[in-house]
Amino acid sequence: MSRPAIAHIRLDAFRHNYRIAKQSHSGKALAVIKANAYGHGAIQCAQAIENEADGFAVAAIEEALQLREAGITAPILLLEGFFEVCELPVIVANDLWVVIHHLWQVEVLLETPLAKPLNIWLKLDSGMRRVGLSPADYSHAYSSLSQHASVAKVVLMTHFANADDLNSDHTQQQTVIFQKAIAGMGKLSATLCETSLANSAGILSWPHAQGNWSRAGIMLYGANPVPEQLTGQVLRAVMQLTSRIISIRKIAKGESIGYGSTFTAERDTTVGVVACGYADGYPRSAITGTPIAIDGQMTRLIGRVSMDMLFVDLTDIPSANIGSQVELWGDQVSANEVAKSAGTIAYELFCNVKRVQFQYSDAG
Ligand SMILES: *Cc1c(COP(=O)(O)O)cnc(C)c1O
Repeated sequence: MSRPAIAHIRLDAFRHNYRIAKQSHSGKALAVIKANAYGHGAIQCAQAIENEADGFAVAAIEEALQLREAGITAPILLLEGFFEVCELPVIVANDLWVVIHHLWQVEVLLETPLAKPLNIWLKLDSGMRRVGLSPADYSHAYSSLSQHASVAKVVLMTHFANADDLNSDHTQQQTVIFQKAIAGMGKLSATLCETSLANSAGILSWPHAQGNWSRAGIMLYGANPVPEQLTGQVLRAVMQLTSRIISIRKIAKGESIGYGSTFTAERDTTVGVVACGYADGYPRSAITGTPIAIDGQMTRLIGRVSMDMLFVDLTDIPSANIGSQVELWGDQVSANEVAKSAGTIAYELFCNVKRVQFQYSDAG
């Protein structure tokens, strides 16, 4: 026997979600599996769609090499490009694609002879103001890079700041800025450039802002970044985080529980203690009322989450017992709702999962 906190990772759901990402977009789709596939296991996720994925995207070379060592041969894009010049030979040797997001990277590329020309994704800052070349520098960088011996192919890319906000016109503005910046580029090069704009929210909500390549992240893991949006095809939760009840006690109306005594019973209450806490990645900031399912029945978190344990209200679930199965998020409890109740986003919940056992399944 061991501690019953388990992250069940359903690779068939991951594959299903990748297919939705592909179908929702007329072009090709990179599967974004940075940060260990948002906490789900990058190698397992990559292998699950190896035969159909157009490519993968990760944050850095360490993540890419892990995939290459596991036998993944598909294209892999480094979303922040290289950090140091010494990465370039390794990038070439492993056939990695690189984002170029700053002029210093442009200069290094122009000065460094390479054994083989690189595929680069030249990033425009169209309004997110994080990374990317300014519109003023963009076409000049493009013309010097596209004619250079170190560069094989250029994809023109940008990234949206507010694609999850259906009421904001920011995405439309960014798209216009991007289109303007690339308008003259066809003339600068013999081959027409491919483009890439959309993350998950862009794919799901902004059909006019897609380009040739999409970059699907969070939707692959089953969390819709635009929760109010009704999609025709339903994403499936990939991670189901479960544990079990390890203790039950009755407290009288007026008694408090847990650190800080933050919950005081408003009626006589049956309290279940669950073997899962913030050291497992369950957010400590989750407040009383956060949804939790016990043996398939919905109830709520009560009191403060501790490192290894948390409390649930079992008053209305008399059948619950020691050993009852608890779903922290997954099929019944949406990670988006838990995140909202904890003042964060599903991305962060997934990335934080640790210490629990990871069990992989693939129903094909
Ligand atoms: C992480 C990332 C994505 C994926 O975003 P999601 O919102 O998870 O779909 C796409 N593009 C870039 C540049 C990223 O860094």
